[in-house]
Amino acid sequence: PAVEEPIHEAVLGRAAERGDTPALIDGVDGTTLTYGQLDRFHRRLAAAFADAGVRKGDVLALHSPNTIAFPTAFYAATRAGASVTTVHPLATPEEFAKQLRDSAANWIVTVSPLLEAARQAAELAGGVREIFVCDSAPGHRSLIDLLGSTAPEPEIDIDPVTDVAALPYSSGTTGIPKGVMLTHRSIATNLAQLVPFLPMGEGERILAVLPFFHIYGLTALMNAPLRQGATVVVLPRFDLDTFLAAIEKHRISGLFVAPPIVLALAKHPAVARYDLSSLKYIVSSAAPLDAKLALACAERLGLPPIGQGYGMTELSPCTHLVPVDAAQDAPPGTVGRLVPGTEMRIVSLDDPDKDLGVGEAGEIVIRGPQVMKGYLGQPEATAAMIDPGGWLHTGDVGHVDTEGWLFVVDRVKELIKYKGFQVAPAELEALLLTHPGIADAAVIGVYNEDNNEVPHAFVVRQPSGAGPAGPAPDLSDVPGLSEGEVMMYVAERVAPYKRVRGVTFIDAVPRAASGKILRRELRGLS
Ligand code: ATP
Ligand code: MG
Repeated sequence: PAVEEPIHEAVLGRAAERGDTPALIDGVDGTTLTYGQLDRFHRRLAAAFADAGVRKGDVLALHSPNTIAFPTAFYAATRAGASVTTVHPLATPEEFAKQLRDSAANWIVTVSPLLEAARQAAELAGGVREIFVCDSAPGHRSLIDLLGSTAPEPEIDIDPVTDVAALPYSSGTTGIPKGVMLTHRSIATNLAQLVPFLPMGEGERILAVLPFFHIYGLTALMNAPLRQGATVVVLPRFDLDTFLAAIEKHRISGLFVAPPIVLALAKHPAVARYDLSSLKYIVSSAAPLDAKLALACAERLGLPPIGQGYGMTELSPCTHLVPVDAAQDAPPGTVGRLVPGTEMRIVSLDDPDKDLGVGEAGEIVIRGPQVMKGYLGQPEATAAMIDPGGWLHTGDVGHVDTEGWLFVVDRVKELIKYKGFQVAPAELEALLLTHPGIADAAVIGVYNEDNNEVPHAFVVRQPSGAGPAGPAPDLSDVPGLSEGEVMMYVAERVAPYKRVRGVTFIDAVPRAASGKILRRELRGLS
């Protein structure tokens, strides 16, 4: 059933009664914001925003790493009637200006270390009326200043069905990031759909290390836990030691991560130095996670199997999740079961009108209240994605089993077509990661001299001694894993058409903030 409530009501409806329960804790300096404060502060800030001139339909760009102030700014903006477009904190002024122009943003909220980039972006884009800072900076009003406002709370008439609450940009993995219009209803409904799968109520401690600006962090680390009364411990960026220390210090119970963090938890020697016994579950999403890697991670930490979730910005974002308390029963490698109130079809890649059966891989197609309103200012791109029947074509390949568990193979666009066969890079990457001498890997299709597209691997060598249970790595002794050994390892384990035909050794796999491999950055290096 659809939830027709503004997002700030859907998330903070019970915040006042939760009073002194900590809502957010700064994982670096320990500063705490209670639910009572979050409730009062976001209302006060909404009043101040309205007083500053923020009107219904305005767009506010929220440009900040994860901080305890981020949610206050977000919900204040929506309460004042604005849509929030979240901006990558490391965006260059040019990239930021592009998003400001594309979204027609009128307001910016930033933090002092990023102020210069925000100023330049506003100058380039034009149309920004004021830049606020969360902390403090000369010449700019801070959120702290605004909290002193005595302006009356605005009475904004929000239509949850049509008004856009958030305007996140897709990750830009396959092209230029697109502004995704998500209504209050689609976000609020998706939160309600997730509840039976993700119990994280009072007493639970969630670690917010993935960025709030991306829809995964915004949902799993901000909206969902705050709606349910959990405490969110906030880290501004991922650094393995800080992350592990925060789990230990704050007795974190639940982790929402992306596959690169699972990889680190499974393979990195630093993990053994921390007490991670407070952890009860780990959820991974945003990119393909190999079943063996997931198992190795869970076993090493003594946890139940890692449950996955599947979604995309255009789906507010989630359609599938392994229920946290049923992770034990889920088949390895699944991304989960369909959330309630949502329909899915698997259709043929050659003929989108042809539905496929159990076990047959095809494009995942979704209909439900979480489907986006559309791409901002791009009716053609929207029409290419959502058909007249309201079905959103995800561009991902998957199949379901008899019990409705979904398995994601890879993106349609990233499948390597070798002489009429299709090879999923994700499958080869997962296989490569099982080699003890490989720390990380990525695969793309390249054209060989016969003009056939063939798999090419990029490999990060594992320092010796850094195996799952091994001692600290000795960096002076990097093993000489060779191209031939890597190719042989794969060739012995896959059908001939899937063989890796070349290897490039690199220092690190380029990834987006959400953990996705940026394959386009690898082209040209092979
Ligand atoms: P763009 O659309 O701009 O190229 P993007 O698709 O990476 O970027 P997001 O909306 O952040 O932007 O990511 C959604 C995609 O992430 C999905 O389409 C899917 O390919 C991938 N994904 C999400 N969850 C999973 C998962 N559990 N397993 C495999 N892939 C996943
Ligand atoms: Mg996409």
